[in-house]
Amino acid sequence: MQSADIIVIGAGIAGASAAAELAANADVVLLEMEAQPGYHATGRSAAYFAAAYGKKVVRDFTGCCEGFFRQPPEGFSDVELLHPRDCMFFARADQEAQLQALQQDNPALVRLTAGEVLERVPVFANDYIHGGLYESRGGDLDVDAILQGYIRLFRRRGGRLLAAHAVMSLCRESGCWRLTAGGASFEAPVVINAAGAWVDRIASLAGLPPLGMRPLRRTALTVAPPAGMDISDWPNMLDADEDFYFKPEAGHILISPADETPSEPCDAQPDDFDVALGVDRFERATGLDIRRVISSWAGLRTFAPDRAFVAGFDPRAEGFFWLAGQGGYGIQSAPAMAQLTRFLVQGFEPDPAFGAVREHIAAVAPDRFIEQT
Ligand SMILES: Cc1cc2nc3c(=O)[nH]c(=O)nc-3n(C[C@H](O)[C@H](O)[C@H](O)COP(=O)(O)OP(=O)(O)OC[C@H]3O[C@@H](n4cnc5c(N)ncnc54)[C@H](O)[C@@H]3O)c2cc1C
Repeated sequence: MQSADIIVIGAGIAGASAAAELAANADVVLLEMEAQPGYHATGRSAAYFAAAYGKKVVRDFTGCCEGFFRQPPEGFSDVELLHPRDCMFFARADQEAQLQALQQDNPALVRLTAGEVLERVPVFANDYIHGGLYESRGGDLDVDAILQGYIRLFRRRGGRLLAAHAVMSLCRESGCWRLTAGGASFEAPVVINAAGAWVDRIASLAGLPPLGMRPLRRTALTVAPPAGMDISDWPNMLDADEDFYFKPEAGHILISPADETPSEPCDAQPDDFDVALGVDRFERATGLDIRRVISSWAGLRTFAPDRAFVAGFDPRAEGFFWLAGQGGYGIQSAPAMAQLTRFLVQGFEPDPAFGAVREHIAAVAPDRFIEQT
């Protein structure tokens, strides 16, 4: 039996970042079922930091993380974590109401004319663009560097990461959680459930009813840019209805049809239909003829019923902590979620840059779903 103060289940960005923060003052074990961390949602994202994306609670968490990504703590990473890239919403004439709603919800967004959109991104078909909204706080994230930075920090603080250790059982006995994983047994008074699409399955191992977390499949693909066109400075381009988006990605154009297909927790694979949908929406907007898809992939974005994050102890089971519902924002918000987790589990105040997370403790608490079930 291996003992620890805290066991974190799942070494995606959520579990790895929380484990690193918690390990500053506790003996922490991080259990991952796959052979390497970040294999599921974390390794499949579009790797974008969009301060303007999601509901207010999501934007507030994301906003706190900007400084961390721009200037990470000493020794966290040798490479740039956030490479500046603006964010733009674009709209056809029939989407004017959506543009107005977006700007009303987020007054920091700057209104653009059709001409201003086309000046930045001269790829749209004639008369497609009616207007846009713009903000300059976005950027491309180096997801692998962020994940590896947290794992290094975790190990430096004495944390133990065990890959190929799928948690198979979980029960509370004599004031401790006892787990079996990878043929070994573990015990700790506190368990952090950061299992991404599998969080409700982990709860059921612990004998708890689910919170109703929904894994939704999202597809991404890359295509070549039009010959001779310099796309390197294009913003991240989001359709005003989020029917699709596209952005430059290592010399190619990354496109997503912004699909949200309900799925069981699994190793998600791209469906041909969704890939074709992404190509079709991009072709309709641009008039381009896409002959070849260079690569495609899919991952599960897991949402709570109200699409806000879930972080907090389960009032039904002592020492069982939920760190879930990262949806489409789990990378860009991870440092803030990790700081909140440390505060809620160990009582340490978040660093000043993350102070805003304290305002949202009730909004992200799992209790909001448990009362209704
Ligand atoms: C196409 C796509 C585009 C995206 N774009 C962005 C973006 O631009 N910006 C952004 O911030 N976010 C984006 N996201 C969302 C982001 O990827 C997720 O919110 C984030 O990765 C979730 O992290 P996680 O750690 O909760 O989940 P995961 O990365 O899935 O990690 C959960 C881990 O738990 C492990 N696990 C499960 N069950 C067990 C068990 N029984 N025992 C041990 N381990 C277990 C899994 O193996 C997995 O490694 C995107 C997602 C997709 C799919």
